[in-house]
Amino acid sequence: MKPASTIFSNAQVTVFETMSRLAMETGAINLGQGFPDDLGPENLRERAAQAVVEGPSQYPPMMGLPELRQAVAAHNKRFYDLDIDWQTEVMITSGATEALTDCLLALINPGDEVVLIEPLYDCYLPMVRRAGGIPKLVRIAPPGWDLDIQALTDAFSDRTKLILFNSPHNPAAKVFSDDELQAIADLVIRHDAYAVCDEVYEHITFDGKTHKPLMTYPGMKERTVRIGSAGKTFSMTAWKVGYLTAPAHLLAPISKAHQYVTFTTPRNLQSAVTLGLSQNDAYFTGLAADLQVKRDLIAAGLEDAGFAVMPTEGTYFMSVDIRSVGFDGDDVAFCEMIARQAGVAGIPLSAFYQEADVNHFVRFCFSKQQAVLEAATGKLKAFFAGV
Ligand code: PMP
Ligand code: GLN
Repeated sequence: MKPASTIFSNAQVTVFETMSRLAMETGAINLGQGFPDDLGPENLRERAAQAVVEGPSQYPPMMGLPELRQAVAAHNKRFYDLDIDWQTEVMITSGATEALTDCLLALINPGDEVVLIEPLYDCYLPMVRRAGGIPKLVRIAPPGWDLDIQALTDAFSDRTKLILFNSPHNPAAKVFSDDELQAIADLVIRHDAYAVCDEVYEHITFDGKTHKPLMTYPGMKERTVRIGSAGKTFSMTAWKVGYLTAPAHLLAPISKAHQYVTFTTPRNLQSAVTLGLSQNDAYFTGLAADLQVKRDLIAAGLEDAGFAVMPTEGTYFMSVDIRSVGFDGDDVAFCEMIARQAGVAGIPLSAFYQEADVNHFVRFCFSKQQAVLEAATGKLKAFFAGV
């Protein structure tokens, strides 16, 4: 029989699914795949339920409900002072994942180079390749995860079509600095390229650090796509609702990809996300404040268990160096061991690398009830005390 796509045939099952399965199979506390462990805001769930009961039950507009697109434009103005035309510059997608796919399919021609920052979120490489792009990787390295501007400069060329990156960064938990963002903007402009900015953790930053979209930098509005996710901002990852902001000349082809990939996104969820984005500032600051308490709690628990923890400036992930507890195997073996023997699941950071050669860090998700975080770090402490 003829072979299927080489890229997808050779792909592994995503590490998030694998680790969640392992957690289920072993009964381990799942700090692996990134998701909160509560139901999410009741007002949004009620609105979604009401919208299902009352209808309509037919296709919403292809670009998204007008009221949600208006709410996305207003959100851009409120938090970033961006003036966005909701009719020509906003589109609703089925999660940030679909928004990313639409961008890559719509902006890349086969042979175009795409600059990516490694470690990278799992769907970036296969989707860039499937769109015909040639990945050019620039690595940020722990513990500081600083962006090497020379390496970034070297990765750009006249063949660069776009840079795709994520800030606040999963899994590095880094918020890109003003200087780094300015350097990215300069290179994008110098090479007449585009930027696709995965900003799903835009509201999850700590210690007074704030997220500044690349789109706000001088000359970047015309070249930047900005992607958000209701799954992250409203702590309901099952709600695959993404929102994409882009200049009209980029949104036009991106919307053509969307019309063939999903065409639209469930109406009831769009209706509830409209309510979500329209909430007052206290909701958004409360999200980060609540997670900052949890970050500090897990950091203290992991340190107490003997781990060297990595700084977390944003996102709901914290990574540890597994060598700090005397483990000299790789991160995948470590995750197998702690799931089966300590009763806690994590994610090996090597999964975020093309060659899996950085393999002594493990990521834990701390968007969980405090008691769950205490139980998990307590189990790790007991396990490593006995090793
Ligand atoms: N990008 C990053 C960096 C993420 O962590 C996630 C979370 N799954 C996504 C994109 C996808 O978001 P969504 O669930 O809205 O598709
Ligand atoms: N973004 C989530 C994480 O990093 C997982 C998303 C998924 O399972 N595809 O854990």
